[in-house]
Amino acid sequence: THTLHILGGGMAGSEAAWQAAHMGVDVVIHEMRPNVETFAHRTGHLAEMVCSNSFRSDDDEQNAVGLLHWEMRAANGLIMQTADKHRLPAGGALAVDRDPFAESVTEALLALPNVRVEYGEITELPDDGHWIIATGPLTSANLGAAIQAETGAERLAFFDAIAPIVYAESVNMDIAWLQSRYDKGETEEEQKAYLNCPMTKDQYEAFIDALLAADKTEFHEGETAGYFDGCLPIEVMAERGRETLRFGPMKPVGLTNANRPDDKPYAVVQLRRDNALGTLYNIVGFQTKMKYGAQTEVFKMIPGLEDASFARLGGIHRNTFINSPTLLDNQMRLKSRPHIRFAGQVTGVEGYVESAAMGLLAGRLAAAEILGKTIETAPQNTAMGALVHHITGGAEAKTFQPMNVNFGLFQPVEGLKGGRRGRKDRYKAYTDRAKAEWQGWLDAQ
Ligand code: FAD
Repeated sequence: THTLHILGGGMAGSEAAWQAAHMGVDVVIHEMRPNVETFAHRTGHLAEMVCSNSFRSDDDEQNAVGLLHWEMRAANGLIMQTADKHRLPAGGALAVDRDPFAESVTEALLALPNVRVEYGEITELPDDGHWIIATGPLTSANLGAAIQAETGAERLAFFDAIAPIVYAESVNMDIAWLQSRYDKGETEEEQKAYLNCPMTKDQYEAFIDALLAADKTEFHEGETAGYFDGCLPIEVMAERGRETLRFGPMKPVGLTNANRPDDKPYAVVQLRRDNALGTLYNIVGFQTKMKYGAQTEVFKMIPGLEDASFARLGGIHRNTFINSPTLLDNQMRLKSRPHIRFAGQVTGVEGYVESAAMGLLAGRLAAAEILGKTIETAPQNTAMGALVHHITGGAEAKTFQPMNVNFGLFQPVEGLKGGRRGRKDRYKAYTDRAKAEWQGWLDAQ
């Protein structure tokens, strides 16, 4: 009963095991590879990087993922210290030599006297004991079915369909205006839940041309291209007919241009509030397989978004993830079965670093619980805390899609200049505040 079982030895599971073992808890990692394969993994190592070999920016003063690196290093993170050991030259980014990296993570865990790996697929949710499920974006079908049976079918997705997310402060409000279609909603806040960007006929036609011409990515081999109904990529909608978007997500009805009430827009792009803070907006219906470079070019053609900064770009991938805002508490426990925690990409974070980070936190929270201690979840003003608060409460549950760490998830620091000019100071203030709070959280344990 004092053993922590971790389901899945990927980025999250490996980090969770390391953290819990260092707190003195016995750990068993259950990993299905190499017995059962996924379409993306190639080896039987723990913490295999399935695609790029980059942990992205290592800048811990101006970049949210770099800050997450810093926080994980301060917490004796295995994934970060191993990445540092196998670092490859890559400018400001942290790129790693993937095979030696995964081998080292595996060896480091197996060298601990209180960690064991059991190889084999787990297909059911456990009835008792302490568990962390960290089976990732390619959770096996059997386990996926078991999770669905527990949570309800609509609370586990097998694909993500991510619309680009824009920082609210970067939208040009001389052009865009706030209004819900037909002013729907009880409160003024609800009646103004959307940001609207108007297009003339010429702008619309040029936009459709750009969409059709843009570079797109293909699905990975083995990744079936079965889209969900109602979440076709925007460029596929445009391919079905030049007017499809104007009668779909870009229909100009029920809206009055607050900046130019006499202009009747030919089409309207709507952005919906994406977090409780109101700092992020997603472009409604704009999930896409366009390449990142093409996306920024095409989306900046939208009037009002010419200078937009993107917290994340769009995508559609094979990705198993649960609706964490409704299913998990802030200790990352499944509300309906609190002996089970979730961690990693399956909780609706996105990326190697974010996944490992959620493993780090879940590992510590679970180990503390086993040892009869309670530790608070990560403070909200840290990168770790911004992420965990987003997935377990801050995000809109109805439209929940996987999220990268970004400064839009942070509570504003008071008394700083807004806009582009103040950005550098603002990010420095966020990272300074985060480091102090993270160190405080670590010291309290
Ligand atoms: P994983 O690292 O996938 O670990 C989950 C583990 O659980 C796996 O080892 C799996 O074998 C095991 N498992 C699954 N089901 C069971 C079961 N029933 N029983 C026992 N074991 C099980 N992120 C990036 O930052 N950069 C990228 O370039 C990138 N590319 C990606 C490409 C693809 C094709 C995919 C699918 C994802 C990609 N990601 C990328 C997203 C994500 O960050 C990584 O998948 C990351 O590895 C997630 O960490 P994790 O620990 O949650 O899952």
